[in-house]
Amino acid sequence: MTLATLERKPEFRPWPKSEPRGSVPPRELLEEAAPIALWDAAIKQATRSTHSRHRTGAIIYDPVDSTVVGRGCSHNPDKSPWIETRSVHAERHALWSLPPDFPWTYGCIVVTLTRTNNFAQVSKPCASCASLLRSYDIDHCIYAERANDASWTVQRLPVHLLTNCKPPRTIL
Ligand SMILES: [Zn+2]
Repeated sequence: MTLATLERKPEFRPWPKSEPRGSVPPRELLEEAAPIALWDAAIKQATRSTHSRHRTGAIIYDPVDSTVVGRGCSHNPDKSPWIETRSVHAERHALWSLPPDFPWTYGCIVVTLTRTNNFAQVSKPCASCASLLRSYDIDHCIYAERANDASWTVQRLPVHLLTNCKPPRTIL
């Protein structure tokens, strides 16, 4: 192999130049899963996060009229003898803000932003938030994730699938 052949070898690019690594899902795609105002509310919560990485925002919403009924962001709580955890996740924070005796049709939208205000590759709730959402009888959870080919998908999963538990018993 001559030097000229080597020089012609295409440059290895781990990421296509036209697809910058940072990105946000197309608004039309988000809107297929939930009204854009709800996504904007979740994004606003994420920007309130006190974390520098994993800035997560969560909203609980009523699908009947698309109103936001609970909201929260990931943050480090003030030092308090009552709170043992060093970090409060957005989903937990949003659940705390719910009124008592809410219907079990409510959904949750989770958005995690990077330092540069792009969507994180995956905004899926962690295992502990997933089981917490389930214990509060939240019906479903919506979040965006990016596939290996750089395209975005929006997941809308029943909460029991997030936790890999059996579905709730059907009430006859
Ligand atoms: Zn979590």
